[in-house]
Amino acid sequence: MIREVLEELEERNLSPLAAKSRNSKGRMRPSDPCDIRTEFQRDRDRILHCKSFRRLKHKTQVFISPEGDHYRTRLTHTLEVSQIARTIARALRLNEDLTEAMSLGHDLGHTPFGHTGERLLNEISSKGFQHNKHSLRVVDVLEGNNGLNLTWEVRDGILNHTKSGKPSTLEGQVLSLSDRIAYINHDIDDAIRARIISQEDLPRDCIEILGKTHNERIDTMVKDIIYNSAGKDRVAMSPLIGEATEKLRNFMFQAVYIDSFAKAEEKKAMYVLEELFKHLIRHPDTLPKEYRAYICQYGEEQAVCDYIAGMTDRYALRVFHELFIPSSWSQI
Ligand code: MG
Repeated sequence: MIREVLEELEERNLSPLAAKSRNSKGRMRPSDPCDIRTEFQRDRDRILHCKSFRRLKHKTQVFISPEGDHYRTRLTHTLEVSQIARTIARALRLNEDLTEAMSLGHDLGHTPFGHTGERLLNEISSKGFQHNKHSLRVVDVLEGNNGLNLTWEVRDGILNHTKSGKPSTLEGQVLSLSDRIAYINHDIDDAIRARIISQEDLPRDCIEILGKTHNERIDTMVKDIIYNSAGKDRVAMSPLIGEATEKLRNFMFQAVYIDSFAKAEEKKAMYVLEELFKHLIRHPDTLPKEYRAYICQYGEEQAVCDYIAGMTDRYALRVFHELFIPSSWSQI
């Protein structure tokens, strides 16, 4: 059987520290193995084929409704994370399929309008809202027929991909770092494209250490992780590159993520989501049928959060328009 050959290749070729698909802690509901694919390959495919994955195309990364076609969206961010993570995983002889699966799933729980939407839902809902926890809810409950029933390792990587998370596998550590490498670098690229910052604004000491161009900086960070982590039981940057990266990240928070004109539309986006939330809490019967079904098990507020978090930017605007903007009367 082909799957057994692939499992054997994992045992033979991967690092002793890698997560092997044959040794997975398994799924919440047992299912028959595939003849062809390993368990982690199946998880990658389940994520790639789900609706939430396709909706990432129209969700904000940093810039709300950017006019240009060259700005990142949540989908292209996810693909960049996956590519960086796979390069690192392969070089360290970790499990590339596991790394890819958790990378493709890590941001499925992101709201419309990026972190603005996340902040609003966190403030307004009594249980709070964090996109990593919601990504897990998407794959465990909301997608497919009663969830995608993923392996423990992929779910752990998705839940723990944020900076404060503690993933249990080295592949999960690769994802967490790759997410940071991707967004710091592509957000610099997009912010320069939008003329919010210029090349000269970037902290000079960081640039000297990490590189002058987008490509050089990613190359420096990725190679540093690989050379600094080979054969070790943790994946990390060296202190020099790690500190320069952290400083660059802090610069981005000050110059771009908080209070720049990239965020000018943020208040409006928050207003849209807040009004949708309040309306749906008052009228839960107007939720689409699939979300209404969650009310009796999880409560109205959770069902409303599930629906809003799943919206793309443009769908949220369309629903707002339908609910609150009077339409003009036209007669042929
Ligand atoms: Mg991400």
